[in-house]
Amino acid sequence: MPDTFDAVFIGAGHNALACALHLAKKGWRVGLFEQAPVAGGAVKTGEYTLPGFRHDWAAMNLSLFAGSGFFKENAAELAGHGADFVPVSKPFASAFPDGKWCGVSTDMAETTARISGFSARDAETWGQLMHAFGTEAPHIFGLLGSPMQFRALAYFMFKTLRAKGLGGTLDMGRFLLQSPRQWLGQTFESPQVQAMLGAWGMHLDFAPDIAGGALFPYLEGMAGQAFGMALGKGGADTIITALVAAITARGGHVACNAPVSRILHRDGIATGVELADGRSITARRAVIAGVAPRALPRLTGGMTPAFDKAMTDFTRAPGTMMIHLALDGLPDWAAGAALKSFAYVHLAPSLDQMARTYAQAQAGLLPDEPILVVGQPTGQDPSRAPEGKHVLWLQVRMTPGTIKGDAKGEITATDWAEAAEPMAERALDILESYAPGTRAKILGRRIVTPKELEAENPNLVGGDQVCGSHHMAQHFLFRPARGHADGATPIKNLHLTGAAVWPGAGTGAGPGYLLARKLAGK
Ligand SMILES: Cc1cc2nc3c(=O)[nH]c(=O)nc-3n(C[C@H](O)[C@H](O)[C@H](O)COP(=O)(O)OP(=O)(O)OC[C@H]3O[C@@H](n4cnc5c(N)ncnc54)[C@H](O)[C@@H]3O)c2cc1C
Repeated sequence: MPDTFDAVFIGAGHNALACALHLAKKGWRVGLFEQAPVAGGAVKTGEYTLPGFRHDWAAMNLSLFAGSGFFKENAAELAGHGADFVPVSKPFASAFPDGKWCGVSTDMAETTARISGFSARDAETWGQLMHAFGTEAPHIFGLLGSPMQFRALAYFMFKTLRAKGLGGTLDMGRFLLQSPRQWLGQTFESPQVQAMLGAWGMHLDFAPDIAGGALFPYLEGMAGQAFGMALGKGGADTIITALVAAITARGGHVACNAPVSRILHRDGIATGVELADGRSITARRAVIAGVAPRALPRLTGGMTPAFDKAMTDFTRAPGTMMIHLALDGLPDWAAGAALKSFAYVHLAPSLDQMARTYAQAQAGLLPDEPILVVGQPTGQDPSRAPEGKHVLWLQVRMTPGTIKGDAKGEITATDWAEAAEPMAERALDILESYAPGTRAKILGRRIVTPKELEAENPNLVGGDQVCGSHHMAQHFLFRPARGHADGATPIKNLHLTGAAVWPGAGTGAGPGYLLARKLAGK
């Protein structure tokens, strides 16, 4: 392993990998140093229960990656290194306690029929929203893919004003400020349709009453209808394996089991990193830190008081608990066998329940009725399990990183090591109430607490799956801090990347790709 590179990366999450590949293509010599035994960060796959059962450790839905600007530019190269996707035509559904369900599939007539089972008016609205999506999408995706700098924003505003006029632009601004409940309530009359879409806000930290959250139910709903979902063939790690192979083929290096303990800098300029084993690695042009903001002051020994404070103050979102199940068969959903063919089934029955769960987790309480995202990847991709068997990806949202108590008054443990089992049982009881007999199908299981998520990947502070809240005060121009939404730091040649930087969390590779384009001059 060489000890001098043009760009040295701390961590090998997909953002760092995407950035590294882009720079390698521009002739930069890149070296990535990852503390974990394998690359990928929150995107990895393994046999976490039984041999032959492949589970996505964290991210399962790769739609953001498959639809990203980075992937469009590199699709052929990554496919050449084995990146492969399974397109999903039935991306998401919600089951309700009364035995009904609603879901979105790429077949418009199917979705409309489902929604009209709850409200004919909402089905009509769905059609209208979908019709307008083609016109709205370029503005919204344009904003989300734009660097958060004054000039880029001014250009974006100019284009939007020209296309939509002042009224249309202000309407878009108002929409971006709305909470999920405001927008959903003003758009749909059925509480079930509102809940089905509102569940998407909970994938981030947009509970129904949080300003700025309307965008996510809207985008995920429309994108699910228009494009479905993309899963990694054989596992989400298909993109990581391909990225590492592509970087290596271009002369780059990815070292695992290589924690970085210090960022080296002299006279305000970053010069390299020191590894935990004492080795020094020199960076000729850039040190790129794919770390949680609060790690930066520690790794650098301090930058400026204001920036250090901003990094330390960076607010995390509530945590997540994962339950990986190896199953004898998919859940038998009480609402109907049709639910087996959806990639995600949300068990988030109402906006009020979601708001309550979020408030409980924020207060440090184990929620009495957590929201479950039930991922059924083997319904789409049987290659992930032995023939006739299945894996289930159960995301328990929201859970506190540090437990202060139990909203239900049953779990006395405040230590995750002890609370894991009873909390997992609570989640499985909920699943069982919607799909009786699922417990009896369990062949193996692995519970991953918020604490374990963080132990495995220090960027997931308190099990926060989005590496920092996306509420308005910490998003757009303010992610991770005003003046630094492009990843720049007070130390020259030291850049921050990853989910904590605009445009934030998810597998869309946006932060890494935007930084790479800035450094390489496109
Ligand atoms: C449970 C869960 C489920 C999710 N589900 C989805 C989903 O279905 N779809 C979706 O789009 N998004 C999902 N996300 C979010 C998404 O996976 C993440 O936002 C994204 O993968 C973050 O990528 P990243 O490159 O910023 O960093 P990460 O993936 O967090 O990687 C950072 C890497 O840096 C390493 N590192 C940190 N510090 C050091 C150090 N000092 N030295 C060396 N290495 C270091 C870490 O070990 C890690 O490997 C999920 C996240 C979680 C946790």
